[in-house]
Amino acid sequence: MIVVIGAGPAGLMAAIQAAKSGKEVVLIEQNGKIGKKLFITGKGRCNITNNVSPREFIENVVSNPKFLTSAIYSFPPSETIKFFLELGLPVKEERGMRVFPNSDKSSDVISAFNKAIERYNVQLKLNERFEHFVFDGDRVVEVRTSKATYLVTSVIFATGGMSYPATGSDGYGYKIAKRLGHTIIELKPALCPLIVSEVFNANNEGIPISILPLPEGLSLKNVSLTVAYASGKPIYEGFGEGLFTSNGMSGPLILTASSKVNREKINNLFITIDLKPTLTLEQLDARILRDFAGIKNKSFKNALDALLPRSLINLIIKLSLINPEKEVNSITKTERLILLRLLKGLKLKLQSLANVESAVVTAGGISTKEIDPKTMKSRIISNLYFAGEILDVDALTGGFNIQIAFSTGYVAGNAAE
Ligand SMILES: Cc1cc2nc3c(=O)[nH]c(=O)nc-3n(C[C@H](O)[C@H](O)[C@H](O)COP(=O)(O)OP(=O)(O)OC[C@H]3O[C@@H](n4cnc5c(N)ncnc54)[C@H](O)[C@@H]3O)c2cc1C
Repeated sequence: MIVVIGAGPAGLMAAIQAAKSGKEVVLIEQNGKIGKKLFITGKGRCNITNNVSPREFIENVVSNPKFLTSAIYSFPPSETIKFFLELGLPVKEERGMRVFPNSDKSSDVISAFNKAIERYNVQLKLNERFEHFVFDGDRVVEVRTSKATYLVTSVIFATGGMSYPATGSDGYGYKIAKRLGHTIIELKPALCPLIVSEVFNANNEGIPISILPLPEGLSLKNVSLTVAYASGKPIYEGFGEGLFTSNGMSGPLILTASSKVNREKINNLFITIDLKPTLTLEQLDARILRDFAGIKNKSFKNALDALLPRSLINLIIKLSLINPEKEVNSITKTERLILLRLLKGLKLKLQSLANVESAVVTAGGISTKEIDPKTMKSRIISNLYFAGEILDVDALTGGFNIQIAFSTGYVAGNAAE
């Protein structure tokens, strides 16, 4: 009998794949239902995969892309789409090749899995928590849970990471793997908001955001953003959307940036935002001069409406150190230059990553050096396999992380005997 522990996307795919070839499979899940995290993915729409080629897929993997190559080629995004179509779940592709169920409901993805569990006779055990293994030499012979003991030929361990612990992925799996002799690469939040300590004014003085609050809730579209050390070249550069939060920034650009910088000294890093990246300094100056010419007698604080959202104007005016009551016709060239510099380089000092519980995924985990990439088999325990986020793998947003769970689950399910 094969016991699969954890009914997230990795464990579900592993159990179904193993059962498809007629093996006896028990799937153990501590929650009262399968796929509790899947249910909240993609804002409830579940971005199941990204319909790119395996080669392009690998380019979107942040940690250990080489390790994943074999699994992604064995079960690529096109196979995920086929898998769901065969279960009667039509899917659609959106911007950036992101694939969702046609219905936009993650519950339909979960229903498809429930259908497959029944179709292939996977014995699903809900409300049952894995507790420990019994060994004979380097083989697991028994799996003990809160309710039963199972005699096993092999085990697939897919208990997830430690983000959003209320979904069941509470980090327990890492402790078990460590106890078994596996190395756990330091766990870090990935795809997470960033916490900011200061915002810089025209004199390059850092003002704590407790004194000068950020415009919480304001979304910045079509901006360029870089994350860098004070003197170094950028660690991350991107173009797209960012969002101010009460204590920092979030949004697609920041989530991606967090995965690229999470192993750096965060509180030595700075975010710089170009609010007008499509205009050169000269073009932006000409634009401002044009705007100002039409409103000569207005005060500076009322002169930026055409250029910026209201909540950002307040911040920029304070940072510029220009008298907000000054009439536009008396703004000097030097003052305009100060304004231009802020618009093309709003600078924030980073304090930390958001905590791992609020991260979309956990970076770090079981060292991939100790896992056979073709089968996901442990190199330490001879009949134990790992799949999904518990491994030291993570990728960018766009359906890549669920696909990693599917691909690693698939190869483990295929290989386990
Ligand atoms: C808010 C949010 C949105 C996301 N959106 C997307 C998206 O749209 N697309 C995408 O690709 N990725 C997305 N992700 C990431 C994706 O959900 C995860 O990478 C993926 O779920 C990992 O799958 P997994 O099977 O490894 O682990 P999990 O999905 O975490 O499943 C692990 C399971 O193991 C069970 N378990 C743990 N310990 C035990 C135990 N001792 N006994 C029994 N059972 C146990 C847990 O209860 C859980 O059900 C999102 C994540 C979050 C938090």
